[in-house]
Amino acid sequence: MKVLVLVDHDRGVLDELTFQAMTAARSLGSIDAVVMGDYPALAPDLAQYGAEAVHVVTHDLLADYGSEAWADALAQAMLVSGARAVIAPGTDRGNEVLAHVGALLNAPMVANCNEITAGDGDWSMIRTRWGGSLLEEATLTADYKLVTITPHALVAEPSSGAGTVQMLAVELDESVTRTIVADRVRAEGGITLQTAPVVVAGGRGVGNPENFASLDELAELVGGAVGCSRVVTNNGWRSHAEQVGQTGNRVAPDLYIACGISGAIQHWVGMMGSKRVLAINTDREAPMVTKADYAVIGDVNEILPAVIAAIKAR
Ligand SMILES: Cc1cc2nc3c(=O)[nH]c(=O)nc-3n(C[C@H](O)[C@H](O)[C@H](O)COP(=O)(O)OP(=O)(O)OC[C@H]3O[C@@H](n4cnc5c(N)ncnc54)[C@H](O)[C@@H]3O)c2cc1C
Repeated sequence: MKVLVLVDHDRGVLDELTFQAMTAARSLGSIDAVVMGDYPALAPDLAQYGAEAVHVVTHDLLADYGSEAWADALAQAMLVSGARAVIAPGTDRGNEVLAHVGALLNAPMVANCNEITAGDGDWSMIRTRWGGSLLEEATLTADYKLVTITPHALVAEPSSGAGTVQMLAVELDESVTRTIVADRVRAEGGITLQTAPVVVAGGRGVGNPENFASLDELAELVGGAVGCSRVVTNNGWRSHAEQVGQTGNRVAPDLYIACGISGAIQHWVGMMGSKRVLAINTDREAPMVTKADYAVIGDVNEILPAVIAAIKAR
């Protein structure tokens, strides 16, 4: 069976989760890689993970990422290569593009698979559900199979392939430009939520947007970043970019300070990789408190100013 693997890259910079997807795909058959945009230089790296052919798909609209443009081009690559199965890494791009391909081909798309076994036409799979708290056994019966692989569910194993570059110029209609990267602005310096060694995160217990000033101040003092729960973003207290959890960011700082956050599973999955967790909460039975390494029981709006004063006094 010929399986295509969608290569996730950012203007020619590979996302290494692609290699995990290629490793998973090799168990299903012979694999070809599909690179959107004129980036044939990626071929040697892809050959090292088993790509027999590397389809380099070109069009002016593929110079940067656009979900619909990538999906339309990928569907064309499937037709040209005769492949009826596509595996992609379970990245934002991988999931978004395959969802669009599914819509184009009227085919089901299966996200976040950990294991796939190819049977007699059907595939059996184990996939991650509910933010990692459930593993589901599923069977995929479809003419076109579109699957993304859960990040870090397996280790990428090299395996040599020919890596023959095949250029493919596609036709794309202007209608696929509804979402396309038009410009980029690089934020200089500063600490991001993803890289901060300390995340000071606030939940409903913080009380109101003004009280987040203490979290901002503490984060600044300890060289950290501010995060929050979904209740906080739903209330409009902070931007969604700061949300941690299943439908927000995944973070793994050295220290996660959870201020007035109950610790619902959908929040926990976003920060469970933290090395240490400190919970500040009025409820000693809150899940965040019972799971944390350290806890302070009390009103966050009294405790944070005291902590800030103590740090400043040093
Ligand atoms: C499909 C789905 C996806 C979701 N995705 C996310 C997600 O990505 N991220 C996320 O966070 N949630 C997510 N949620 C929502 C999640 O289920 C919880 O509702 C949410 O995390 C609760 O936010 P919270 O802890 O701020 O609020 P609450 O659950 O209301 O908890 C508030 C906490 O603050 C404490 N508290 C109250 N007053 C004080 C005080 N003065 N001082 C100290 N502590 C105090 C309380 O004891 C309590 O523990 C999702 C839900 C669904 C269904």
